[in-house]
Amino acid sequence: MSFSTLGLSDSIVKAVTQQGYEKPTTIQEKAIPIVLSGKNLIAAAQTGTGKTASFVLPILEKLRHSETQRKKRIRALILAPTRELAIQVNQNIERYSEHLNLTSMAMFGGVDDKAQKQKLIEGVDILVATPGRLIDLYGQRAVYFEEVEVLVLDEADRMLDMGFIEDINKIIARLPQDIQNLLFSATLSNPVRDLAKSAIDNPVEISIAKHSASKSNIEQWLVTVDKDKKSALLSHMINENQWDQALIFIETKHGAAKLVSQLEKRGIAAEAFHSGRSQDIRAKLLERFKSGDIKYLVATGVAARGIDIQELSRVVNYDLPYPADEYVHRIGRTGRAGAQGEAISFVSKDNFKNLCMIESRLGHLIERREIEGFKPRKEVPISILNYVPKHKRAQED
Ligand code: AMP
Repeated sequence: MSFSTLGLSDSIVKAVTQQGYEKPTTIQEKAIPIVLSGKNLIAAAQTGTGKTASFVLPILEKLRHSETQRKKRIRALILAPTRELAIQVNQNIERYSEHLNLTSMAMFGGVDDKAQKQKLIEGVDILVATPGRLIDLYGQRAVYFEEVEVLVLDEADRMLDMGFIEDINKIIARLPQDIQNLLFSATLSNPVRDLAKSAIDNPVEISIAKHSASKSNIEQWLVTVDKDKKSALLSHMINENQWDQALIFIETKHGAAKLVSQLEKRGIAAEAFHSGRSQDIRAKLLERFKSGDIKYLVATGVAARGIDIQELSRVVNYDLPYPADEYVHRIGRTGRAGAQGEAISFVSKDNFKNLCMIESRLGHLIERREIEGFKPRKEVPISILNYVPKHKRAQED
C-alpha cells in the first residue's frame, strides 16, 4: 500500500516522501480512506503510531482546492490537550502542506494572545488549539466557527483527564451541525465513549493494536530500587552506560528541579522541563534536546505530553506514572514509527499496586534487571496480573 493508492494527491505524497515516510502506517492505511469518504471516525491509537498524519493528510486533501476566504474563519479545527501537542501537530501540518497553499496555526494559552489574533485576521485554514484559549478567543470574537468543515479531538482521553470536558462541549455546541467529526484517543475508555456518543453521529470505529505500547521495538525493563537511592542509581546508569540521550519522567516540578541539581553535583548536565517554565524556555529546551545539545531532560508528565522527537532512544520513568495508560503514553515517546527504543522504570516498594496496574494493562510482566550495588532493602513483590484496584472492584459489584 502506498500513500497515493490511499487517495492522496501528488503534492501531499511528495511532502510525506520528503519526510522520509516510505509507506503508510497501519492507522494511516485504515483512517485515511475513512476520513476522505467524509465519515465520522473514532480511533483508538497511541501516539507513536503515525496517528497525526492519519487525520492531517486527508484533511489537507479535502481542503486543498480552496483557501479560507474570510478573515477570522477557519475550515478545520483540531483540539489538543497541551500546547506542546498543539505546536507539534501544527508543525506536522506545515510539513505536510509544504506544496499546498493552505495556512495553519497553533493556538494555546500561557502566552499573549495578540499574535494569535493577528494571525486569525490574516486567515487560517486549519487551527490547532487547546480548548481553554480557543473558548477565550471565541468569546472575544477573534474567531468564528461557521465555516468549519471538520473537527478533530486529538488525544481525547488526555483532554478529559485534564478536565476540558466543559470547554469541549461548549466548542462543539457552537460548531455547525453537519461537520465531519474525528476522535483520536489512546484508549476508548468509558468517558471517551460518552463524549463520542454525545458528539459524534454514526462513527466508524477503528482500533490499532490495543497494546501497541508493548510493540517489540521498545525494549521495556525495570529496576527495583529504594526510593532514596533513585538519583544515585540514575547517575550511575548514565555514567556507566554513557547514554547518548534520555527523557526522564518525574512526578513534580519541584522533584524535577531537585533531580537536575543532584545530577549536576555528580557531574551530569541536565535540564528541567515542566509547566513552571515559560513557553519560550520550553520551546528552546526542546530544540536543544532534539539537536543533542541537551542530553538529559527531566520532565513532568503533563509538560512532556506533546514531545515528538524522532529516534528518541530512551525514556526513564524515574517516578512510575499513574494511571497505567500514562505509562503507555510515556513509553510511546520512544521507539517511534519503527525506531528502536528503550523504556526503563524505577520501581520501589510503595509503587507495587501501581506496577500491578501497569503490568495488568500491558498484559505481561516487565522484565526486571538488577543493577549491582542498588539491590533494594525493601523488595518489590512480583505483580498480580489482572489486578483490579479496590475502588474499581467496588464499582463493578
Ligand atoms: P504520531 O503518532 O502522529 O505522533 O507520529 C509518530 C512519529 O512517526 C512522528 O515522528 C512522525 O513523523 C512519524 N511518522 C508518521 N507517519 C509515518 C510513516 N508513514 N512512516 C514513517 N514515519 C512516520
